Amino acid sequence: MKTIIEPFRIKTVEPIRFTTAEERQALLRQAHYNLFALKSDDVLIDLLTDSGTSAMSAAQWAAVQQGDESYAGSPSFFRFEAAVKELMPFKHVIPTHQGRAAEAILFSILGGPGRKIPNNTHFDTTRGNIEAGGAEAHDLLIEDGRHPDREHPFKGNMDLAALEAFLVKHGADVPCVMLTITNNAGGGQPVSLENIRAVAALARKHGKPFLIDGCRFAENAWFIKAREPGQSERPVKDIVRDMFAEADGMTMSAKKDAFGNIGGWLALNDDDLALKARNRLILTEGFPTYGGMAGRDLDALAQGLKEIVDEDYLRYRVRTTAYLTEKLHALGVPVMRPAGGHAVFVDARKWLPHIAPLAYPGQAAAVALYEVAGIRSCEIGTVMFGAKPDGTEAPAAMDLVRLALPRRVYTQSHADYIAEAFEEVARRKDHLKGFQIVEQPRLMRHFTAKFARIA
Ligand SMILES: *Cc1c(COP(=O)(O)O)cnc(C)c1O
Repeated sequence: MKTIIEPFRIKTVEPIRFTTAEERQALLRQAHYNLFALKSDDVLIDLLTDSGTSAMSAAQWAAVQQGDESYAGSPSFFRFEAAVKELMPFKHVIPTHQGRAAEAILFSILGGPGRKIPNNTHFDTTRGNIEAGGAEAHDLLIEDGRHPDREHPFKGNMDLAALEAFLVKHGADVPCVMLTITNNAGGGQPVSLENIRAVAALARKHGKPFLIDGCRFAENAWFIKAREPGQSERPVKDIVRDMFAEADGMTMSAKKDAFGNIGGWLALNDDDLALKARNRLILTEGFPTYGGMAGRDLDALAQGLKEIVDEDYLRYRVRTTAYLTEKLHALGVPVMRPAGGHAVFVDARKWLPHIAPLAYPGQAAAVALYEVAGIRSCEIGTVMFGAKPDGTEAPAAMDLVRLALPRRVYTQSHADYIAEAFEEVARRKDHLKGFQIVEQPRLMRHFTAKFARIA
């Protein structure tokens, strides 16, 4: 059979509240055209993020009932730890409430003024945690990864020559080498096993620990299986183990590829580093056998980790993203290609050339999509990255709109509805107006800024 179906049946449903275009216009005005200010009940299809929005399985809900809330030594922790080690053979597994808590702990030890940390592309919380401690975050992505319309099977790869030069130049200032799989900030694009091994070898050669930001490890492993020579016959689980066997540790947001609504971890091989991390954990998160989570969360994740490497699930997951990407491409909407794992990225600067970057074409497209069809997406462009520390503003490298797909939540007819909404927005796109910001905080303005439409 050629048709790839959702590999699940639906047992519990959550109704969607329908709104009219007039209602949405009023809601947009009330929200000052900031989609973060909308109530989620007023959203028909919520593609704001794939983080923490997964549907849990019946087996995960059953596992929640087994959660043991003992402060120390809970069996839930040992089930969680075993599930992590089954896939990622690290010596120490340190549970945190989210990925950023693992990052904060890691960089409280490895970061600090004068330190420089390379990555293919740092995710914004990773960069934030590095910079908050006074260190520098450097992105060394391959050139192909920087162009939305360039076809390349592994657009998340690290630029190895740039990494080598970086390590030679900055030597003693580099506390570790990182690699983010898949590359979230770069469009959910995968990293090849060959590239992971080469990055690991370079880190080893220069005596640096190699850490993987593994938030979407299962999607990355599926891309390796589907696209990398010699990998197509191998079980995804083996590929996952190979990916992490190269590393000295990892950070993880379990809100992504662990089907969790909350959770994360830091894993390490080095005893001394792990000791320091656990001491920090006790200060900021909790005792090392629960960290930032309840026992029931740990059990839900232990089960989620078994489900996320299911190949029928991954085939469907990656196909979903590709399906929507292809539909939009066929409509003439410029999208990042090939499709990444967790989201479809629309190149709004290219789609709405009459709106200057400083009038936020991504915001204009995202607002139009909500107005027309009740779909919430996320601007990733000049609104998010354009503000400079000195109070001035400059266009971001790209003006994208991200349609992030929650795991196991929406069906193919939802995808068809999204495509139809783009058809409708495309019809009026030449008349869409840009925006100006009328009120904004100094930092992270995209969450709370107020906008007005330019007349
Ligand atoms: C989500 C994410 C994080 C941060 O995790 P949170 O659970 O949101 O704190 C870090 N890195 C990447 C690549 C992510 O996608």
